[in-house]
Amino acid sequence: MSTHRAQGRADLLVSGLSTLYTLAPDGPGAADELGRAEGQSVAFRDGALWWIGPQAHEPEADEIIDGDGLIGLPGLVDPHTHAVWAGSRAAEFARRLAGVPYSQILEEGGGILSTVAATRRADRGALAEDARARLVGLRSHGITTVEVKSGYGLRPDAELRCLRAAADCNDTVRVVPTFLGAHTVPAEWRHQRDRYVRQIIEEQLPLVAPHADFIDVYCDRGAFSLDEAVAILQAGRAMGLRIKAHAEQVCHTGIAAAAAALGAVSVEHLERIDEAGIAALAAHGTVAVLLPGAQLYLRDPAPPVAALRSAGVVLALGTDLNPGSSPVHDPWAVATLATLIQGFTIPEAVRGITRSAGAALARPELGWLGVGSAADMAIFAPPPGEPPEVESLVQHLGAHRALYVIRDGTLVVG
Ligand SMILES: [Zn+2]
Repeated sequence: MSTHRAQGRADLLVSGLSTLYTLAPDGPGAADELGRAEGQSVAFRDGALWWIGPQAHEPEADEIIDGDGLIGLPGLVDPHTHAVWAGSRAAEFARRLAGVPYSQILEEGGGILSTVAATRRADRGALAEDARARLVGLRSHGITTVEVKSGYGLRPDAELRCLRAAADCNDTVRVVPTFLGAHTVPAEWRHQRDRYVRQIIEEQLPLVAPHADFIDVYCDRGAFSLDEAVAILQAGRAMGLRIKAHAEQVCHTGIAAAAAALGAVSVEHLERIDEAGIAALAAHGTVAVLLPGAQLYLRDPAPPVAALRSAGVVLALGTDLNPGSSPVHDPWAVATLATLIQGFTIPEAVRGITRSAGAALARPELGWLGVGSAADMAIFAPPPGEPPEVESLVQHLGAHRALYVIRDGTLVVG
């Protein structure tokens, strides 16, 4: 990074941004907690971020984006989605609003079981087509990296097909694939859950491990027990996968502390994490991924954000995009909800969908801007009549516009 005049010619230049947020500890705006600086330019060359500095020193470039009046941020990161699924749960949503309990919907084969049935019937092309359209939607809000979980196949062939469909979408955004065979016990193993756990470990994992970066489990009442979850995570770790866990959402199980002790990169949800769990996350450097969309749809209490913050736990935010409990397609809506229903500050919410979300994927090059970062950027117009500041993007629900999105130094939106 340099404030000296650049020597040479850039492929792509974002010139004279009214407000740039680098999220970097050095470079322009280093004194500000979000790296806020005015009148800066960002240059890309050969697929890399090549130069950042004041507009007066910017290099020549083949292609120039005029940043006047606009807000520049690193490409956003969504560290928690279930973006590969088939079928619709809209009718179920209407029934739940009318007061039908989810347990009754499940008994009738609805809820997640209906998503599993529809996903098993879909071929890889159809799964990838719908997932790609969802990821294009996320990208339209400035996202360039998305974690995508399997978990609606729940048998070896179908779990593999979901992970392959996710990988097929890597041309849209950078896809980070996670294996979630332990999402729920499928209907056919309901009375032999130990055999399903064995199938995950002995049949699903060896097949899917080459196609995933992470293993995840849903440890909760109605899903997998603490002992089952730990055995599955250990087996995944032995196959070379990094660890995540759906943790302490409906009930407190102790999985957050157990996963942290196993070296989990992140644990997610955490509405019911306790003091010991928070201490374990802090001790092991495990990222907390909070999902305010699911909290809202399930009318849950907020996770203990103040306690997580004072323990020094890194706080990331995800959409949890899925067809049932969090059909949320917009990271800015998540940032807004995090401030309103979880007690995030605006800078925490912005870090939560950028740099901290990159940390939740063990990808430290994501979610900030500087030499050595990913060459990903999102450029926004503020809501009408608002100043070009992140405060306006977070305050106004649904009024941001991502005019340009850059991935690996190439313009992909705009
Ligand atoms: Zn989830």
